[in-house]
Amino acid sequence: MRRSARPARTTTATRADVDRAGRTLLARRIRTIVARLTKAYGPRPWKKEDDPVEELVGTILSQNTNDKNSHAALEHLTRGFRTWEEVIIAPVEQVADAIRSGGLADQKARTIQRALARINQDFGRISLDDLAGWDPLRSMEYLTSIPGIGPKTAACVLMFAFSLPVFPVDTHIHRLAVRLGLVPAKFTAVQTQQVLQEACPPDLVYPLHVLLITYGRGVCRAQRPDCASCVLQDICPVAFTFEHNRRQRRKRPDR
Ligand code: SF4
Repeated sequence: MRRSARPARTTTATRADVDRAGRTLLARRIRTIVARLTKAYGPRPWKKEDDPVEELVGTILSQNTNDKNSHAALEHLTRGFRTWEEVIIAPVEQVADAIRSGGLADQKARTIQRALARINQDFGRISLDDLAGWDPLRSMEYLTSIPGIGPKTAACVLMFAFSLPVFPVDTHIHRLAVRLGLVPAKFTAVQTQQVLQEACPPDLVYPLHVLLITYGRGVCRAQRPDCASCVLQDICPVAFTFEHNRRQRRKRPDR
């Protein structure tokens, strides 16, 4: 009998299949995490928070400091200058003095002035309202093309000010994503943002972001995570390892 020249049908998964399966699994884990944290802390419905320019400036001010200091810095800035135009033309030292409480004042003052000037040049006014009609990807590209604006800041503007499903990853979220095994430990925050952006169901972007930040500050802290009272301990690959390691270190005799 003549053999068919047609190649045998194969069921081997393609790279795309594997990626799709991985994203589906990740999405399922994300749903579980959101459900557990929602039960513990209450629902976090989407809400539009700030004017986009204020969100941009506020996020720049929040880098490497806590909420209390960055909110104080934003308040001093908006109280000290009546308009964003005034901020652009002021001597950089004056802007830095106004935001001193937020830390890295000289660097942040320059970033803020440059970003406001660029927006003014591109839109003919200091407003990001035009982004409301843009595709989110185009908005991300535009915002990250401004010197000093990274993917986290750009995503914060789009999620908080435009209610778009663009996932920002800060240090708390990056830490939790690694501990919970959502991304490999060697991933950077930018890589983690890409993975969560692709895997997170759009309706869960805002709740996942705000719930993980709350959790990262209160329970899964950087130094001493409280695994004993964690509602995610049964799905966390590193649950109790921090406490175990600490005990082991204490047991070791002094050298
Ligand atoms: S079990 Fe511990 S390390 Fe894991 S998420 Fe909870 S607090 Fe963080």
